Amino acid sequence: MLASLAMKICVIGTGYVGLVAGAGFSDMGNDVTCCDLDQAKIDGLKRGEMPIYEPGLDKLVVTNAAEGRLVFTTDVTAGVAGAEVILLAVGTPPGPDGSADLQYIFKAAEQVANALTGWAVIVTKSTVPVGTGDKIEAIVKKALATRDTKHEFGVASNPEFLKEGDALNDFMKPDRVVIGADDKRSIETLRALYAPFTRTSDRMLVMDRRSAELTKYAANSMLATRISFMNDLSNLCELLGADIEQVRKGMGSDARIGNKFLYAGPGFGGSCFPKDLRAAISTGRDVGYKLEILDAVVAVNERQKKKVGEKVLAHFKGDLKGKRIAVWGLAFKPGTDDIRESPALVLIDQLVAAGATVVGTDPVAMDAVRKQIGDRIQYEPNNYECAKGADALALVTEWHEFRRPAFDRLKTLLKQPVIFDGRNIWSPSELRAAGFTYYGMGRNKNA
Ligand code: NAD
Repeated sequence: MLASLAMKICVIGTGYVGLVAGAGFSDMGNDVTCCDLDQAKIDGLKRGEMPIYEPGLDKLVVTNAAEGRLVFTTDVTAGVAGAEVILLAVGTPPGPDGSADLQYIFKAAEQVANALTGWAVIVTKSTVPVGTGDKIEAIVKKALATRDTKHEFGVASNPEFLKEGDALNDFMKPDRVVIGADDKRSIETLRALYAPFTRTSDRMLVMDRRSAELTKYAANSMLATRISFMNDLSNLCELLGADIEQVRKGMGSDARIGNKFLYAGPGFGGSCFPKDLRAAISTGRDVGYKLEILDAVVAVNERQKKKVGEKVLAHFKGDLKGKRIAVWGLAFKPGTDDIRESPALVLIDQLVAAGATVVGTDPVAMDAVRKQIGDRIQYEPNNYECAKGADALALVTEWHEFRRPAFDRLKTLLKQPVIFDGRNIWSPSELRAAGFTYYGMGRNKNA
């Protein structure tokens, strides 16, 4: 096969991962059909409307759609026909026991099998437990047998490592591309597909399918472990009078440790870490192994998500009746409108339960919060207006626009100059000198 030939690709599931992958592959000159069963999402995409907020995505989608390389449909059969690479990028949400719910992936595999017209590699981009590739293979074999059709096919694992908020960059310039497959044709097809993304240096890691499936859980588990570790340490700092920012710099400058993902904060949220950790723990349980470190990571995170609220309650001696609290940042992290498992929602629950009036602001996630909790809180698009008349300001998501506010203006707007900095983005000493009462995460008196 010529690595430079455009390929025909079908993506099943046009969410964060599917849409970014579809746009990225089409931008490299491939013919991509993105399928989704959500008719409204597909209709919107055809009109150039993005279902998610992701910087730069709209331009890439609109340009490639206009060039005819990127099409959207609800018709999986049409999308699969003639495709040599079929990516499964549907959701794998947590089931009631924490294990990954694979019903969408199995359904998609069956639909693909029923529509196959020739050899193709079916690639799992969704995050799935070890052994899912084997089950997909069995589903496809069975469906083909029912159709009395004999197509050869490959099943590969190609986990996605993009970060919401910087997804395009991650996809177009990946740190590594993990390909898990056990047959030569699938490996060569995927090598050719990813060659344009890894031109500067070969960052493709080819391995067996089970190891590739586990790699994704291992990566997310390690990142989440670093976060919970730092949060645990930050709580210890508060008790010992040490400063987590000094400790972070001191430990992170060790090249063996590195300085990324070492920030204390209000706990991790989002659509991946919480669910993937629970799924990894469940995978261990299935084979009789207790992943004790991950159990602790989850427990520390659950506790940490309540920390900012506990600080607010402690400051106001447990009584928030008649108090107005401004919350800056509702998305689970900057750069996205995703609010799944956002720590801001936990804080809001605590504040409202204690009788406070909450007014929230976020550059892009207010609509998503409104959809989920309606008028339990008030919404204010302007962050200064949000702070107006509030008894305290709590920062949960460190959007760029919150990093250097005019504190003199804030001081005149707030009813009481009290700040809870859930991300340690402001200088405690500067704020204290300016007359604010400042609470950070694991900061000490000299910070
Ligand atoms: P999402 O919920 O945003 O999108 C999934 C899409 O699949 C939905 O639009 C849904 O309508 C569609 N779908 C479901 N069944 C379908 C079917 N049979 N046919 C066609 N469409 C179907 O999910 P996401 O955030 O893109 O995540 C997808 C997978 O990728 C998950 O396993 C997730 O863990 C993993 N992942 C996500 C991220 C992330 O940052 N969001 C990063 C890496 C990996």
